[in-house]
Amino acid sequence: MKIRNEIEAAVEEGVDLMVQGGQKRARACWCELCRADVTALALSTLPPRYVTTISHSTLNGGAGTGAVTSAILTSMRKVSRRPKHRHSFPESQSSRVKIINYIFQEGFSRLASYMRRPGLPCTCARCQDDTLAYALNRYPPKYGVLHAGSTKLPPYHVDHIRQELRLIIAHAGAVVGKSPRH
Ligand SMILES: [Zn+2]
Ligand SMILES: [Zn+2]
Repeated sequence: MKIRNEIEAAVEEGVDLMVQGGQKRARACWCELCRADVTALALSTLPPRYVTTISHSTLNGGAGTGAVTSAILTSMRKVSRRPKHRHSFPESQSSRVKIINYIFQEGFSRLASYMRRPGLPCTCARCQDDTLAYALNRYPPKYGVLHAGSTKLPPYHVDHIRQELRLIIAHAGAVVGKSPRH
């Protein structure tokens, strides 16, 4: 699959810049866990921009970067108020912190079952990517942080998301099927 949310790179870059300028925000904790929390939270509040080709970021300048910066700052304040760790976060656990794109994961498996439907006009890789990107760009993002196996979405929430994604992917599939890019 050649599909990614361009906003991810923008947020990671923005967080990097803030970590480097850390002396000005001495009160923020930038351990691996808090950093992942800030990133996941910011990504969950910014409208996603899934693209299906390997292209250069289109976020340079303009309103894009401003929105990214303010989402990171808001997330940073929230995370600093209630960090998930009590004392300092042990560096030995850093490698176990992972950011999860829930909506992409769920969308990806819903897409697989959609593509097994009989009678679809085309199921080539390109149409699959286009279908998923179309759907995910119209669905609120939800990122989370996996830390030592914890922090999963509550099951009722997952069921709800799955149902909605199933519908939106069917819609996206119909749109892409009507005018494929090849
Ligand atoms: Zn921390
Ligand atoms: Zn196709």
